[in-house]
Amino acid sequence: MVITRFAPSPNGPLHLGHGFSAILAHDLAQARGGRFLLRIEDIDGPRSRAELAEEFRADLAWLGLAWDEVPAQSTRLASYAAAAEKLRAMGLLYPCRCTRAQIAAAASGTDPDGAPLYPGTCRDVAMDGGGPVAWRLDMARALAMAGPLEWVDALAGPQRARPELFGDVVLVRKDLPASYHLAATLDDAADGVTLVTRGRDLFASTHVHRLLQALLGLPVPRWHHHALLLDESGQKLAKRRGSGEALLGLARRRLAGEDGAALAAALRAGIFPAGISAG
Ligand code: GLU
Repeated sequence: MVITRFAPSPNGPLHLGHGFSAILAHDLAQARGGRFLLRIEDIDGPRSRAELAEEFRADLAWLGLAWDEVPAQSTRLASYAAAAEKLRAMGLLYPCRCTRAQIAAAASGTDPDGAPLYPGTCRDVAMDGGGPVAWRLDMARALAMAGPLEWVDALAGPQRARPELFGDVVLVRKDLPASYHLAATLDDAADGVTLVTRGRDLFASTHVHRLLQALLGLPVPRWHHHALLLDESGQKLAKRRGSGEALLGLARRRLAGEDGAALAAALRAGIFPAGISAG
């Protein structure tokens, strides 16, 4: 049974790229008699807007998709805490109080997301005093424990996992109960997802997710990292750049009276409106 999912964060309206992604996940499941899940990834407290989840459901229904909704991330905090505790007991997490500015000043190089690579400042330091801490994965230890790992992308083929590209990645944020990597990996396992479909911008993250699966004894799905939609100037659509607003936004198009089924058919056929292309 193929189980795919669409896992939007309610921190801004969806854009055409999200529509493309959701349709792909839906169709890959449907073609093989599987299930397509919707999971609202709403643990980024200050940035999450509850009303957007309802808007997302309306957008997906407008595109003609049917889905099973699984519990939102905000209801799963205990499972994140339990996994962090397990990794801590394995000696694989350490607390870190460094600020972004301190890390940027001491870092040499960047991770695949372009963030400064953590220089390991707190790795072997006994932490005292109070205040919020982030919990980081001791990557060298984790790699030694897990050994070499592989994962398979439906388009790019077999991959050697290279989580070391992210260094001692944060698994529990100072301000949040889990990082994206930990929460998404645990949820995909809990939801029985067998084919993780998402944009190519998250391709490198999968190296970390594969390592977490090995460390936590989770099942290993397959992945399908799809092309990203690009705007007229060749830049990828992104919520952060306001792509969900106005012309490229699903809700805006829906509320303007556009035929959602016709838009979905066009996206499936690779015919993109508004000067968009797939890169
Ligand atoms: N919640 C993430 C986002 O909105 C998606 C994560 C994923 O598909 O793994 O970008």
